[in-house]
Parts: sequence; structure tokens; C-alpha cells
Amino acid sequence: MNPSQEVSVRKITYATIDDQERLTDFHVAYDRAVEITKKTLGRHHPMFIDGQSVWTKDETIDRSPIDRRIQVGFFAKGTADHVRDAVIAARRAFPEWSSWPWQERIALMRSVARTIRKHRFELAVAIAYDAGKSRMECASDVEESADFVDYYCDQMEQNNGFVREMQCPGDGGTSSSKLKPYGVWSVVAPFNFPLALAAGPSAAALIAGNSVVFKPASDTPFVGLKLYEMMVEGGVPRGVFNLVTGNGSVVGQEMVENGGIDGIVFTGSKDVGMHLARSNALRSIPRPVVAEMGGKNPTVVMPSAHLEKAAEGVLRSAFGAQGQKCSACSRVYVAREVHERFLELLVEKTASLKIGNPLERDCWLGPLINETALKTYERAVRQASDDGGRILIGGRRLTNDPFCHGFYVEPTIIDRLPNTHPLFSEELFVPLAVVGEVASLSEAIELANRTEYGLTAGIFSEDPEEVDCFFEHVEAGVIYANRSAGITTGAWPGVNAFGGWKASGSTGRGSGGPYYLQQFMREQSQVRMH
Ligand code: NDP
Repeated sequence: MNPSQEVSVRKITYATIDDQERLTDFHVAYDRAVEITKKTLGRHHPMFIDGQSVWTKDETIDRSPIDRRIQVGFFAKGTADHVRDAVIAARRAFPEWSSWPWQERIALMRSVARTIRKHRFELAVAIAYDAGKSRMECASDVEESADFVDYYCDQMEQNNGFVREMQCPGDGGTSSSKLKPYGVWSVVAPFNFPLALAAGPSAAALIAGNSVVFKPASDTPFVGLKLYEMMVEGGVPRGVFNLVTGNGSVVGQEMVENGGIDGIVFTGSKDVGMHLARSNALRSIPRPVVAEMGGKNPTVVMPSAHLEKAAEGVLRSAFGAQGQKCSACSRVYVAREVHERFLELLVEKTASLKIGNPLERDCWLGPLINETALKTYERAVRQASDDGGRILIGGRRLTNDPFCHGFYVEPTIIDRLPNTHPLFSEELFVPLAVVGEVASLSEAIELANRTEYGLTAGIFSEDPEEVDCFFEHVEAGVIYANRSAGITTGAWPGVNAFGGWKASGSTGRGSGGPYYLQQFMREQSQVRMH
């Protein structure tokens, strides 16, 4: 029995995380989904091209970051030829799919959203096994996915399918503007929100009338497969949504180079995103690339700040999902007057975080995704110590059993590094925050803007003029003030759009916001004379 059928749970978002005690039904259903999912681990899985399963001799073992001995499954190792086949299938499916009245397309996509909600527990547990995130983070990832789909459907409705009458061209003629789909989109997803950041861009492409070739990250193919299953169960026709698994450098690269692709939506690191943008620029014909990339997100704490709230908001954003959020707060600039007190509170709260198996109810921090992330963490801690930084808490890997079978590390706070130190500008993507002292708001803003990234930023201040000044001058696409539920994290479709400036994003339009869906369509200006 599907655990979701028996329980009606109120919506869980990234800001609900402290409500655990009130969610008894949720935990019972989650526990049951863990037991059911356990029985499905270790199976072999194909890709899906044109609605057909495609097996390969060569497979990748998907090991869980929770415990590397757990084999989540064996996944087909796709090649460039598989991508070519998927593009052919998607091109074949496009004319019919794009000719559906938009009202019918969104009715179908709303059924995909319902399907995601129906399987919310199974999906959340799949995310936990693949990405190692805590219960509430996984549940939010699922809920956000369904909300992305619904929000883009709402946008289509609110904009009447993006058909608009224009001014009369004269002599009794008519003129209109119509947004039309491009054709086939590549959707390349990251590991850290393996469902939401695959379902969101895919839904936008599909709702707009495009067909899709989708590749999940190599660390999270199980969740990629689940998304494919949701699309099929929701009723997406054959060939409209194709799943190809395999390495970024092979499968992903072909998804960018293939001439049958009409648009690319990528979420991941700046290095890969810029590589894709550069490859795309070499083509003889332009093509849209929507690239959402990394972040090095600052928080400013002013003397007037409510320090308890500030410590809570920083803690959640710095260490939620083990610091593996593009929006994670990884640097904090604190006014000299409140520096010591703020740090005391932050350290005290950090000490109370439970690190452990993310399948368990009371776990707050799970493991890092892989060994590369562990090495980044260890290198950053060493670098901080070598350069005179003070490690206030954390700094170590957990090596006792059973943690030695995964990449579990302590959440880490470091101060006494110069504010110009590289750890204040390099995205690490691990639970490590550096804290610097500042003399004024203007100094804090100048430092906040001193990175190539511009994704999220936050301020704690009880002085509205300071908040206004911060909002006016900080260079980031998503900004918050006094939000203890997460000062740089936790955007939600339809509530606050999420997209980066500078090296954090290529388009300046946020996902889950009013200007996102249009990017998957091109305008046709239609003039008719009578
Ligand atoms: P990566 O850039 O390593 O990978 C992202 C995706 O790109 C994966 O599916 C990967 O495949 C694929 N890929 C790798 N190489 C290529 C290539 N040559 N051509 C095409 N595709 C390729 O990012 P991570 O998965 O490690 O995710 C973490 C990063 O994502 C962080 O920098 C984070 O800030 C950013 N991010 C940004 C968000 C935003 O909204 N701005 C949201 C979430 C994350 P494979 O896994 O097989 O290598």
C-alpha cells in the first residue's frame, strides 16, 4: 500500500523544519515508506527513450551516501548514441505535443503534480537514499516539485497561454503576440535537489509545449528514475519526456552539443554551467541556455539585530542539507559590537544539531554526497587552520561505526580569518561557514558584493533604514531580512522566485517566479490584414 494514501499531511516546506513533533502521522508514513523502499534497493534499471526501456551492458552502481555499502541500484550507463536516440524520439513527439491546446497540456501536467503528491513518501525516501538529506529536507524537495508544476500551470492560465492582442496595425488588420515552444529541451539536473530541480525545469519546458531529454546527476539516478515514473503515471505521452542516465562528460556533453536540441536548462556548478554556455556560443545558430549556478551567500548581522533569531537563521541556512544548497549561507559579516555574543549563540545552537542517519526521525544533518565533497571539506578546514583561522566548532569527519561507511562531517564555524581570505569567496558546498567582523553596514555590503556570485543574501537588523540600504545595494537575486527560518535559503514557487545574478545565473529570471516560464517559449508576432 502506498503510505501517502493513508495520511493527510499539511504542506511541508524548508521553513517547517522545527515542527517535527507535531507531525506524528508524517513520521509513521515515512517509516513505512522506508521499509517499502528498502525492499526495492539493489535492482537493475534501464533508461527510457521513446517510452521504451533501454538497457546497457555497462552499468553504474548507485551507492547511498548514508552508507556506501547500500547499493541503491544499478543504472544504465548511457552513451552519446543514447542521447541521439532520445533527441530523435523527442523531436518526433514534439509536433503533436505542441499542438495540444495549452489548457489540455496543463490539465495533464496538473495530474503529474497530483501524482508526485500521491507518492510523496516514496519519493522523499528515494531522495534520502540517493542524496542523504534529512526527512524534512526530502519531504520539502518533493512538495516543492509538485508546487513548481502547479505554479507554472497557474502562470500559463493567468497569461491566457501567452497570447496577446496588440495595437491595430491599421486598415482594419489585427496584430497579436504569441509565445510558442522551441522544440526539444535538454534538462540537466544537480544532485542536491534531485527532484525539485529536475521536476521544475522539466515541467516548465513541457507546459510550454516542448519535449524533453532529461539527465539526472550521476549521484542521484534513482530519483531521476522516480521523476520519469511520475511523468508516465501522470499521463505524459511517449517520447515527450525521455530519461538518459550516465556521465555528465558523455551524456551531458552530447545533450549540449546535439544539433537537435533547441534549448538547454542546466542547474549545477559555475564551472560546468559556463562550459556549457561557452560550447553553446560556438554554434552557428543561437540557442537559449538557462543556467542556474553556484553561490557564496552572505549574511550581515547588525548591532540592532535580534541575535537569537540571527543565530537561528544562519544555522539553518549554513547547515541545512549539510551545506549542500546553492543558497547555503557560507559567510557571515557581523558588526563588531555583537560579534562575540552572536558567535556564542551560533556555536551553542550548532552544538545541539544531531548528525546521523538521515532516514531517522531526529537526524538534522546527514552525510556529504561523496568523497570529493569530503576532500573539499578537509582541505578547507586545513587551509583555515594554516592561515590563522579559529575553528570555533566542528572541523572533523566522523569516523566511528557506522559513520565511517559514509562521509559524515561536523558542521563547522570559523572566524579570525581576514575578510579577504579565499574561503570568503570560494563556493565549497559543505557545512562550513566563515565569520568576519565589520565596522559598518557599508563595509558589510562591500564585502558581501565582493565575489563573482550573486545568488542569495540576508541581513539581520531591526533598523528598517539599514534593511532598505542593504536591499538597495546588495548584488544578489534573492534577498531576505530577519528570517529565522533560513536567512539565505528556503525559496518557494509562487512565494519568492529563485535565481542568481552574476556568476550564479545566466538569465536574471528566477524559477518559481512570474518570468521563468516564458524562457521556454519564443515570441511570434502575428499580423493579419483583411
Ligand atoms: P555539477 O555542475 O557537477 O553537475 C550538475 C549536472 O551537470 C550533473 O547532472 C552533471 O552530471 C552534469 N554535467 C557535468 N559535466 C557536464 C558536461 N560536460 N556537460 C553537460 N552536463 C554535465 O553540479 P552538482 O551536481 O555537484 O551540484 C552542485 C552545484 O550546483 C553547486 O555549485 C550548486 O551551487 C549548484 N546549484 C545551483 C542551483 C541554483 O539554482 N543556482 C541549485 C542547486 C545547485 P554528472 O553528475 O554525471 O557529472
